[in-house]
Amino acid sequence: MRLRHNLPLQILIALVLGTGAGLLWPQGHALIGGWQPYSLFDFLGTLFLRGLRMVIVPLIAGSIITGVAGAGQGSGLGRLFTKTFAWYVTTSLLAILLGLLLVNLIQPGLQHGVAVGPRLGLTLQDADLAAKLQDKSTGDLVGIIQRMVPVNPVAAAADGQMLPLIFFCLLFGIAIGKLDPEHRASQLRFWESLFAVMMRITGWVILTAPLGIFGLMAKVTATSGFAAFAPLLKYALTVLAALVLHAVITLPLLVRTIGRLPAGRHARTMLPALLTAFSTRSSSATLPLTMDRIENGAGVSNRVSSFVLPLGATINMDGTALYECVAALFIAQAYGVHLGFGAQFVVVLTALLASIGAAGIPAAGLVMITIILDAVGLPLEGIALILAVDPVLDMCRTAVNVWSDSCGAVVVARSEGEAGVLSNKSSNK
Ligand code: ASP
Repeated sequence: MRLRHNLPLQILIALVLGTGAGLLWPQGHALIGGWQPYSLFDFLGTLFLRGLRMVIVPLIAGSIITGVAGAGQGSGLGRLFTKTFAWYVTTSLLAILLGLLLVNLIQPGLQHGVAVGPRLGLTLQDADLAAKLQDKSTGDLVGIIQRMVPVNPVAAAADGQMLPLIFFCLLFGIAIGKLDPEHRASQLRFWESLFAVMMRITGWVILTAPLGIFGLMAKVTATSGFAAFAPLLKYALTVLAALVLHAVITLPLLVRTIGRLPAGRHARTMLPALLTAFSTRSSSATLPLTMDRIENGAGVSNRVSSFVLPLGATINMDGTALYECVAALFIAQAYGVHLGFGAQFVVVLTALLASIGAAGIPAAGLVMITIILDAVGLPLEGIALILAVDPVLDMCRTAVNVWSDSCGAVVVARSEGEAGVLSNKSSNK
């Protein structure tokens, strides 16, 4: 399809045009006849997000079930799981440690050695904060594990709860692999066809990405402009610097050394997914594009991609983990609280857990910071400090989250002996 060849360029243009349009016509700005361009931005952005959400549940169910059921009747799954999990934890920890290093070096919470808290309105009380937190945080590790087992798988699917859905589909796929040949064949045929249908529909939704991304970008800049970001510039730059270093040095280095794969080519293949993550601020919503690029662009098998990516979109969040650590230490610095080695160690561990527990939706990482603040005894109101710059940082950390998932997919595929990954034939489709 010709349209798809130009997709990265179209999305880039949409990003730039959307940012400009939002700045030109902020929310409330009316043109001829009282018509507000903001309503169009909102319409396009919402429609695109709804399209992505529409395909997610059946796409993931089909993908995991066919992937697991076809993976040699469940054999080798344990190995795949170990490799995938090792990638998740290692890369998230590396990201956190990088964030820790930079936030200690740059000290964004201090100005000339004085805590910046009072200047940023540290006493601010956000009445809605508690309610918002309740809404999005998925809680502690025990809670996360408990909620992975759905009481009702259909309800979990209907509510779009990803972890219970993934868990059930994994079981379902394994069970199919254990059936007698007759039943196994009919189940496999059904799920493979369903998956094929969903990939086709996903392809159609992806074609509308430039319009949707234009709307989403315009909405962000039309709502907050640039003014809101000024006082938190040093903090935001610390997060951004760490994210960039992790994305362009750490991860590519791992792809090159462990996977022996061309990281640059991989990045070009993934560009549409990364830009979509950036503008939707949601790893889960980006999942259809991530899967499309990994399978149709990088040439990874469905067996590996359907295992690594849906799980990764929910629990592997390098960008979020790094951000949690920097944000918590920034808040401590701004309050004038010195966190010693022990407390920083607690921050590292809780940042890892919080990133695993954060849902792949916008601002989930922001609310998970409460777990860390709580663990080291900092006031939860500290979150109010970083609210203004969160949307922009959310965009960047979500792109890094998806980038890490995709790097994990190619590295794991390669370690499973898949020779066609990122070969001349497979990529740049
Ligand atoms: N928005 C991020 C994601 O979907 C999660 C976060 O808020 O950090 O990956």
